Amino acid sequence: MSGLRPRRPWEDEDAALFRENLRRFLADELVPHDERYRDQKMVDRSLWLKAGELGFLCPSIPAEYGGGGGDYAFEAVMAEELSYAGSTSFGQGVHCNIVAHYILAFGTEEQKDRWLPGMCSGEMIGAIGMTEPNGGSDLQSLRTRAEVDGDHYVINGAKTFITNGAAADLVIVAAKTDPAMGARGITLIVVETAGLEGFRRGRNLDKIGMHGSDTAELFFDDVRVPVANRLGGADGQGFAQMMTQLPQERIGIAIGAQAMLERAVEITTTYVQERKAFGKSLLDFQNTRFKLADCLTAARVSRAFIDECVGKHMRGELSSAEASMAKMWCTEQQGRVIDDCLQFHGGYGYMNEYLIARLYADVRIQRIYGGANEIMRELIARSLPAMAG
Ligand SMILES: Cc1cc2nc3c(=O)[nH]c(=O)nc-3n(C[C@H](O)[C@H](O)[C@H](O)COP(=O)(O)OP(=O)(O)OC[C@H]3O[C@@H](n4cnc5c(N)ncnc54)[C@H](O)[C@@H]3O)c2cc1C
Repeated sequence: MSGLRPRRPWEDEDAALFRENLRRFLADELVPHDERYRDQKMVDRSLWLKAGELGFLCPSIPAEYGGGGGDYAFEAVMAEELSYAGSTSFGQGVHCNIVAHYILAFGTEEQKDRWLPGMCSGEMIGAIGMTEPNGGSDLQSLRTRAEVDGDHYVINGAKTFITNGAAADLVIVAAKTDPAMGARGITLIVVETAGLEGFRRGRNLDKIGMHGSDTAELFFDDVRVPVANRLGGADGQGFAQMMTQLPQERIGIAIGAQAMLERAVEITTTYVQERKAFGKSLLDFQNTRFKLADCLTAARVSRAFIDECVGKHMRGELSSAEASMAKMWCTEQQGRVIDDCLQFHGGYGYMNEYLIARLYADVRIQRIYGGANEIMRELIARSLPAMAG
């Protein structure tokens, strides 16, 4: 293991072994196909199935539902190793870290038995639809409507920017069941897409980065879904459920961001030692040494905070403000470090065949999705009075 990848304080023997096996799996099954995945704007379904078969999906979902039965360390290892692999194509983070955990947290036994085994095996790909064309930050104002008709909801509306949306078999849809109630009128409904009348996928969107990850529009036109697919015992719990789960989504983004900035420092350090200019290696220039010293320091300092946050999350002690700090901080460090690292690659850094170029484009979204970093600052600022004592 390189200097930036020591055993984590939150990682036990089982998680370390899982990491080794996962690293081999990603090297064999993801990395060699990544260029094709980027061209086709999504991974092959067979990747999901292979990952499921080998226990690399939903590692922290209990074994009784087909998951790995591990703790959150396993999800953290997944996020790290995908970043170390240098690929952003495989949407397993949304599938496992987010969607499966909504079902685990808020589903009835019947719902968990129905959906989780297929998600763990890779036969059911999961997505979550919160964002709409008219806005994503202001979730309270979402417009997708779910009206009760007998024992069904009738859903009308549109979602956009949905990760795994083009492939999803199961989408958790945030919809208004009572528009007059604002945030308290939002309900999460699990929509199974197979053969569903009135459900339509729009474009697999053309992004500036993350080309191998499918990001789609979804349309709902009088879509009938059983009320039994609601998450939670009553209508109107969706906003509170999202607020409960969003810290896990944010810490997941932060973990991936941290590992990716570490990878950028590693590959750039190798590059500047090998590349020569003016008769010496790039690392011999003081500017390179100082800038990379800054990058390395950023990597080490952020690592201390993210490890603390992962440990706290595993003990159920991570606050929403801390998750927001981790998301904001790590994604901003990631953007800055990768920009600096690209500079040292010169023109090659602008070529997509170089990993640093792909990372540069891939990571720009990290400061926007999962809650824009401005929203993170709002959430952090709300914790200020308590900090003052
Ligand atoms: C690749 C990709 C994948 C995504 N995956 C998913 C997914 O799987 N599911 C899903 O539901 N969504 C997903 N999203 C959507 C993402 O979460 C939203 O884009 C994000 O929350 C911002 O919403 P918006 O784009 O509507 O921007 P807006 O809400 O219009 O905000 C635009 C900008 O305004 C500023 N702003 C907004 N509100 C405030 C405020 N209160 N204070 C200060 N500044 C503010 C921020 O700078 C913000 O970036 C994804 C997006 C992308 C691009």
